[in-house]
Amino acid sequence: MLTVADLLKVLNRIPAWGRLVTLPDKVEAMDRRIAELESQVFKGRNGSHQMCPKCRKHTLEFMHRKPHPIYGKIGVQEEHFKCSECGFSTKRHAS
Ligand SMILES: [Zn+2]
Repeated sequence: MLTVADLLKVLNRIPAWGRLVTLPDKVEAMDRRIAELESQVFKGRNGSHQMCPKCRKHTLEFMHRKPHPIYGKIGVQEEHFKCSECGFSTKRHAS
């Protein structure tokens, strides 16, 4: 009978398997990098953040972008922002 250990030995002989095993770590690293780059994109030209509509300070920070819960399947994204000063948060649609 084939055990899990036997199966892993067989899979480890396949070059593509090695790349698949490391894929989750690579995707996670890419997600972090994308979030970092998106954060930089959403900063203003002078490096400041957007103005918070609640406290009016330039502390509205881009948090992340993800597919819209309803329209995500057709490519609509939501961008989430949060104010580091007053805690106000908001979402915006993006394409
Ligand atoms: Zn605020």
